[in-house]
Formats: sequence, structure tokens, C-alpha cells
Amino acid sequence: MKQDARLFTKEQWQQYLKQEPSYRVKQLWQWLWKHHARDFQSMLNLPKTLRSQLEKDFLLAYVERKEVQRSKDGTLKVLFLLPDGKLVEGVLIPHGKRMTACVSSQVGCSLHCRFCATGTMGLIRQLKSYEIYDQVVLLNALAQEVYGRKLTNVVFMGMGEPLLNFSQVVRAIQHITDSEGALGMSPQRIVVSTAGIAKMIKRFADVLPKVRLALSLHAPDDEKRSKIMPINQHNNLAALIEALQYYREKSRHRITLEYLVLRGFNDSKQDAQRLAQIAKRLWAKVNLLAYNEVEGFSWKRPSKAQMERFAGYLRERGVIATIRESRGRDIDAACGQLALRHASFAQRAV
Ligand code: SF4
Repeated sequence: MKQDARLFTKEQWQQYLKQEPSYRVKQLWQWLWKHHARDFQSMLNLPKTLRSQLEKDFLLAYVERKEVQRSKDGTLKVLFLLPDGKLVEGVLIPHGKRMTACVSSQVGCSLHCRFCATGTMGLIRQLKSYEIYDQVVLLNALAQEVYGRKLTNVVFMGMGEPLLNFSQVVRAIQHITDSEGALGMSPQRIVVSTAGIAKMIKRFADVLPKVRLALSLHAPDDEKRSKIMPINQHNNLAALIEALQYYREKSRHRITLEYLVLRGFNDSKQDAQRLAQIAKRLWAKVNLLAYNEVEGFSWKRPSKAQMERFAGYLRERGVIATIRESRGRDIDAACGQLALRHASFAQRAV
């Protein structure tokens, strides 16, 4: 059976190419990760016999762009087609000098957060490292095509829980930051956002201390958090705070707490007081995001004034709180909506 060339590590290539001159590994690596060669015959600086042998032993698979939706605010939402026909989403967000790619780490998600369209799908499968990397490369190409600029940042905030696909996410980040690859991005420009798995946060701190971390907090106490994020039942706030303190000591980065404001649920003055206590303990900044109403969910979006009032409560307590604009509200903005709209297609592909 053919092996997947884009899952081979450099060490594996060194072994496979041990009869060849040592520079072959670099040549092949650049074809795969810099020039994104679609077939072995196009790798013209490799000997013909080697190209034919590679063709016999390996398959080369890539992610494709299937559909792009453009919002009035310039946000581009992309549906990606995976080599096996499944679908995931990514988003390109131009904002000031920043050009951010938001990518998916799993097809679907096992965590069933009560406000999330992706959570209704369950986990369909893990993404391979190159299926994550390809999203970034394709969004980078789209950024240049539409805006004439390259990506400046990458966030893992699309479909799936990145820390539950840890080894593939780590390898994808290695490719994104590889100076011999197409992107060569600084790890400090990458944010991994987690719903909160304490032991994996510690592992993340050990393996990727230069990469930034955001916690999707969304509620300031265990009772409320468990109602909207079932993962909290096994990873309560005390465990998460301890793990985040560990990350903070290892990385020295400021942690971001993402807080989705759901009208009448987590937006009281008391909620803000509790949230401020957590943020101060962790020396974290808070990003507030007003919930985008989604068909099939009963949560309500807070008004601008309610958002300002909540941010004010936090700032009065000395917390850095930013209200993030909702981007792409006129398209299928919430994570998972676009892929769900294509559910019949996705099911055919399962
Ligand atoms: S919010 Fe994130 S972690 Fe929660 S169900 Fe959706 S994709 Fe999964």
C-alpha cells in the first residue's frame, strides 16, 4: 500500500533516501512544503528514476478550496474539501494591518458546546497535519489574490478542539513556522484556542511554549460553564486555572480569555466580577464577543450597550477587556454553519 508522503517526517525521508546524496532530503522537502508539488514527476531536480520510485511508493494528497463566501466587512469564509471528500471551514479576516487565518483542527467536534453549530455534528475525524497546514497555505494565497497581502497571523479557532488532535496540530505548527517551508511564520503570531483540557494545556506549555494560548471561558463559574460547555464537568475552573498558570510560567505570554456574551445568561455585574477575578489571577486579557444568533439555538445576542456595560465592569476592576467586532455576520458566520449547510454533501462523503 502506498504511504502518505506528506505525513513523512524529515527523519523518515533521510532513512528512505539513504542511498541518495544528503541534499535530496532538502530538495524533496521543499517540493512538498514550499512549492506544493502536485505530483512527483514535476519535481524536476530529482533524478527520473527516483521520481518514478516515489510515485510507486507514495501518494500525494492536498486540500482544495471548494467555496468562498465574502462578507460586506471583507471577511472571507472558505469551505475546504479534504482528500477524502469531507469538509471543513476556514476564515480569512482582514483587520487593520493584520491578515488573520482562522483554521479548523478536526472534522466536527466531540465537545458539544451548547452554543456551537460544529458541536452538533459530533467528531467525524481528526485532521492530518497537512490538512491543517494546507488551510493556512490556501488562505494565504486567497489573501494575496483578494487583498494583495500575505497572512500575518493564524488562529486555531475553527472547527474542532485543537488540543484533542494534539500531535497533528503540533506538526502543522512546525510546518507553518518552518523556515524552509512556504510560510516561515513566527510562533508568536499563532494562537491556539482551547475549550479547556487541563492536562493538554500543560503538555502544550511543554511542547509549544512560544505559541500563544487562548481559553474559551464563556462563563465565570463552574455551574454556568458546565451548562454550556460539558467539558467543564471533567476540567473545572480550578484545574484550568492551575494549568494556565503553568503555561504562563513556561511561556511568559499573556493568556487571552475568550468570553462569548449570551444575553441574560453570563452578562450580569456579578458575572463580570467573577470573570475579573479569574483574569487578574491569570494576568490575562479578556476578549468579549457578542453571540451571533444561529438558527436552532435559543441564545440571544446582547445589544451594543449591554456589551459596553459588561466591558466597563471589567475595566473598572483593572482588567484589559476588548470588545471584538463580530465579523462576517451577513454570511454563515458561526463556526460550523457553512459546513452544516453542506451537510448532505458531507454525509455523501462520509
Ligand atoms: S465551540 Fe469549539 S470546542 Fe466547543 S463544540 Fe464548538 S468547535 Fe468544539
